[in-house]
Formats: sequence, C-alpha cells, structure tokens
Amino acid sequence: MKNVLFFTVIMLQSLIGFAQQNTLLTKNENEAILYMREEEKLARDVYDSMYVKWGGNPFGNIRYSEQVHMDKMKMLITTYSLQDPVVTTKNSHGMFINPTLQKYYNELAATGSQSLTAALKVGAKIEELDIVDLEERIKQTQNENVINSFEFLKRASHNHLRAFVRRLKMEGVNYEPVILNKVSFNKIIKAEKAKGRCKQKCD
Ligand code: MN
Ligand code: MN
Repeated sequence: MKNVLFFTVIMLQSLIGFAQQNTLLTKNENEAILYMREEEKLARDVYDSMYVKWGGNPFGNIRYSEQVHMDKMKMLITTYSLQDPVVTTKNSHGMFINPTLQKYYNELAATGSQSLTAALKVGAKIEELDIVDLEERIKQTQNENVINSFEFLKRASHNHLRAFVRRLKMEGVNYEPVILNKVSFNKIIKAEKAKGRCKQKCD
C-alpha cells in the first residue's frame, strides 16, 4: 500500500512536471514564438534573394545564421506542440501566414532589388525590426526557455546590424536608424561583438 502511494506521488509529480514544461504557455508566448519563427524566415528569404541579386557578404553569411534562428524557433514549436506556420506554407520562399510579415517581405524584397545600397539598408532595417520585436516579446514572458532563445536571436541581430552598417560605410553611406531610437542604435553600434554567439562567420 505504501508502495502504491509512493508510486502515485511520483506519477503525479512527473505529470505536473510535464505540464509545466509543455503546456504552460500563455497566449502571448504562443503568438510570440510563431511570429518570431516567421520573422526569422523573413530575414532568411530576403537575404537569400539579395544574395542571388547582389552576391557576396554580408548576405551570404547572414542568411545561414537566419536559418539557425528559424531552427531555434522550431525547437520551441516542437517543445510546446504548436502549429508551425512554415510547415503550413511548405517553407516556400517569400510566403508567410502572418499578413504583416507578408507585406514586409513584398516591400523589402522589392526595395532591396533596386541597388546594392538599397539592399544593405533593407538588411539593416530587418535587423532593427528584429531587435525591437524581440525586446517587446522578451518583456512579455517569464518563461526562461523562451527568454533564452529570444536573447540568442537578439544578440545575433546586434551583430548583423553592425555588419550591415559597416558594409554601408564602405559604400560611403552613413546609416541612420529607421526603427530603433538613436540612443539604442548608437549603443549597439559601439558595443563589442556579442561574444560566443556567432560561432560561424556570421558577419
Ligand atoms: Mn535572426
Ligand atoms: Mn539577423
């Protein structure tokens, strides 16, 4: 009888543990993961197009980094048993479930095909957007697993933003932020490369 009770307690504990790991996601967290999964796809798809059109780096390197970020979001989708929007769109280039991201893709891909400078500015804008969206969503969650994944993406976006801004400077363009405020932007540009988060040559 004692054994049965013991076994029941263990079973209950593991069930509660399972519930905590897999189902205790708020609506905000759920939406944030799906949104970021597609936003990383937006970055990957635009950079893929820019690489085809203009060649070279930073597009060549950074598009692989965005695939890593998509994979990171896929891990959360799998962990929390969410419906993956990238599966729904069959991972088709330039296709998104979220209408806002679809609109962004259409506009950014068109702008970026006009000139190399325009493409580099599009890159910087995407990274700014990514940083702002991640910061907003990090504030809305207490879930460490989600926070850690989003922080990883944010650090990479800081590196990518610096890479695009540096490359623009080589083209004689002094990039001004279009989404971030000037203080935050300058802080990111002046900061050292986020350590240990960019193992591949991602900028
Ligand atoms: Mn990214
Ligand atoms: Mn990026």
